[in-house]
Amino acid sequence: MNRGKLPKPQGIGMTSQRTRARMVERLRKEGITDEAVLSAMGAVPRHVFVEEALASRAYDDDALPIGFSQTISQPYIVARMIEALRAGRELGKVLEIGTGCGYQAAVLAHLASEVYSIERIAPLLMKARVNLRALRLGNLRLKHCDGNLGLPEAAPFDSIVVAAATRQVPPALLQQMAPGGRMILPFGTSVQVLRLVERTRSGYIETSLDAVRFVPMLVGVE
Ligand code: SAH
Repeated sequence: MNRGKLPKPQGIGMTSQRTRARMVERLRKEGITDEAVLSAMGAVPRHVFVEEALASRAYDDDALPIGFSQTISQPYIVARMIEALRAGRELGKVLEIGTGCGYQAAVLAHLASEVYSIERIAPLLMKARVNLRALRLGNLRLKHCDGNLGLPEAAPFDSIVVAAATRQVPPALLQQMAPGGRMILPFGTSVQVLRLVERTRSGYIETSLDAVRFVPMLVGVE
């Protein structure tokens, strides 16, 4: 790609549809097959969620800085997590831990009936609110709180996505899963894997998936 010819960020909306279509084709090649996920990824303007200076790289398959030592997850990981969580079914009512810049929350809102996304860093949540405003997603609610506690007032959840790595699956999140519900989270410290947790009538089933690299899940709010 000739980067010199890319439009300035304020003009990127003109071509972002095409750039997004290319991103979706790349996700297909990388093995994402869930058409609903691909279509949601094709619909959300990712460049809106990164700093203007990085907008031309928004659709590359990279994690990018979003301030406060946090990153927006790479497109493949966002797609992979949501595909594994869906397993071809409806997401239902979703809880996301770690709103960050709000990108994944927007993708989830295209696929789910209701999305609650919580973030521990207040200024980052404010940034997410600004990023999301123009998208007018009426089924998405953001909250400033500690994801370790989940969101009891909106529980139970059919699907939970954790966007920061944990060493222990927070017990509150296990409790807030609906029967038949599913949760996906990056598990571990320096070596991390995606873990899928399913709640059955008799207990929880855990499956380990791909190796990943996420920022750690911290405790408390700031
Ligand atoms: N979902 C984002 C990625 C966010 S990165 C995206 O679409 O790109 C992980 C986020 O988890 C960071 O913003 C971090 O502040 C947040 N986080 C870490 N620990 C948390 C906790 N205990 N509760 C809520 N958010 C947490």
